[in-house]
Amino acid sequence: MLPTRLLAVCLLGFALLHGCSASSVETRPAALGQPASSEEMQAVINEPGPIVFEKHLAANWTVPLSGLLNLEHPRAVAAGLEDHAEPIQIYVYSLRHPEHGTFLVDSGVSEKFLDAGTNDDVSFLVSQAMKFPELDVKLTTSRLAEAERGVNGVFLTHIHMDHIMGLSDLAPGTPVYIGPGDAAASAGMHLATRGTTDRLLANVDYLREWQFGPSGIIDIFGDGSVWAIHVPGHTPGSTAYLVRTASGPQLLIGDATHTRWGWENGVEPGPYSLDGPGSVVSLAKLKQLALDNPSLTVHPGHQSLE
Ligand SMILES: [Zn+2]
Repeated sequence: MLPTRLLAVCLLGFALLHGCSASSVETRPAALGQPASSEEMQAVINEPGPIVFEKHLAANWTVPLSGLLNLEHPRAVAAGLEDHAEPIQIYVYSLRHPEHGTFLVDSGVSEKFLDAGTNDDVSFLVSQAMKFPELDVKLTTSRLAEAERGVNGVFLTHIHMDHIMGLSDLAPGTPVYIGPGDAAASAGMHLATRGTTDRLLANVDYLREWQFGPSGIIDIFGDGSVWAIHVPGHTPGSTAYLVRTASGPQLLIGDATHTRWGWENGVEPGPYSLDGPGSVVSLAKLKQLALDNPSLTVHPGHQSLE
């Protein structure tokens, strides 16, 4: 009896320590996109581009600042920042390409969240912990998809719930692209979140993983209009997108940092990142890209700069 109980305790301890994958949804290498060098991207960043770009507010929400920002960072300490409930936004971006159609960056919020407390895709535990009933939905992805006359694909910045909660409003099998390793990433927290993540991904046939080369940059359509930039840290596959529009280049950084303050002060996320030091490196890389290209309009994950 004792050895059996000991074995169970050991297995539970192992599971909590090593966790499980973020999702059990199948992944396959993306056929779309070709690896490119940073010089190739840099050569066209400041040229007007063909993408019609819109930023949409999907929902307002409130989460603890301590997850969004590393409050132990010297600049956060010096600024006297303390944990509190921080108002944030959930954004979704539409990218209309003249030949390839309309793509979304991240997925917004499904109509199932209009009364978020009753959405049975979300487990009770997750709903309470993440305060989903407080979500104030402003635009559902089904309304956005209707206005766009359909969506040809979704480019995710990463697999976290607040970035995939609109996918269930899209046509089943709509291609969904993501950085490598996000679905497979193991963490103790995923023991509580994987079921919900899988249900939110239920109408995704499989996740198409960007095939980054050593440069970590992909020219998505092969015409220099939209670029995927690998920025691992927050999650292993975290991806930023650079979009060339008629009115200048847009840089969507996902949760490389969530807040306006985090971007302006170069402070990475707190424990919401799986790899804190990796987040530091990736945020510094994006800050440098913005310094080198003042024409860039930067969009942090969950707040706007103006
Ligand atoms: Zn995130």
